Amino acid sequence: MSDTLSVSGLVSGYYKIKVLNEVSLRVGKGELVGIIGPNGAGKTTTLRTIAGVVRPWSGSVLLDGVNVAGLPPHRIARMGLGYVPDSRELFPNLTLEEHLRLAHSRLGSKEDFGSAVDRVMALFPPLKGRMSQRVGTMSGGEQQMVAIARALISSPKLLMLDEPSTGVAPRIVDNIYDALKSLKGSMSILLVEQNVQLVFEVADRVYLMDRGSIVKEGTPEELVKDELVRRTYLA
Ligand code: ATP
Repeated sequence: MSDTLSVSGLVSGYYKIKVLNEVSLRVGKGELVGIIGPNGAGKTTTLRTIAGVVRPWSGSVLLDGVNVAGLPPHRIARMGLGYVPDSRELFPNLTLEEHLRLAHSRLGSKEDFGSAVDRVMALFPPLKGRMSQRVGTMSGGEQQMVAIARALISSPKLLMLDEPSTGVAPRIVDNIYDALKSLKGSMSILLVEQNVQLVFEVADRVYLMDRGSIVKEGTPEELVKDELVRRTYLA
């Protein structure tokens, strides 16, 4: 069985400055994989390049076996990538329902809207009764949940999240991580997170990035024993 995501030798950057240096990683079906690393390591650039927001210079990105490297972001989204960027990219004047409807219709979902809404809203109890609230009036944590719900509405093959705990109240962080725990197994997830403890609690496998390269890979149990990881992240 092929992996949901298989990235090989990915190189990209901004203008002429190379940031990613032959990044290779994989996410198996139903697996939750984390990427950790210091500021500026290239974690966000890795997700942006997979999503097509940053153009790959070379390398391949197989989504369910199909190479999507070089395609524009909207085509990659239609092919099954649910991407939640660190900037969230929400529309403050649109309601929660409008966000979900837009994503549902644009991505050509087969599931009817009502059942799709029931499925995603069950994961985020704090959003209950908020369908007609403008997203710009919600808290940071609620907005993060909206961004994730929008990515999930079309049942993507791969859910990719960039630092979902940043700027979010602890209670909502717990809610988001409970949702990820309940999704893993049935959905493939790639998670970038600055909070290493959170990643270790939820991930099946973790990659450590530094200066544009993957420098270590292992299960959380393996990585907590690693001297470099302990010294840098778990002191
Ligand atoms: P952080 O946790 O701080 O977000 P990161 O691991 O996600 O770090 P990236 O945001 O991918 O790292 O940044 C990797 C490198 O690319 C850094 O040197 C950064 O300055 C550079 N970079 C990121 N975005 C841009 C951009 N839009 N234009 C130019 N350089 C950029």
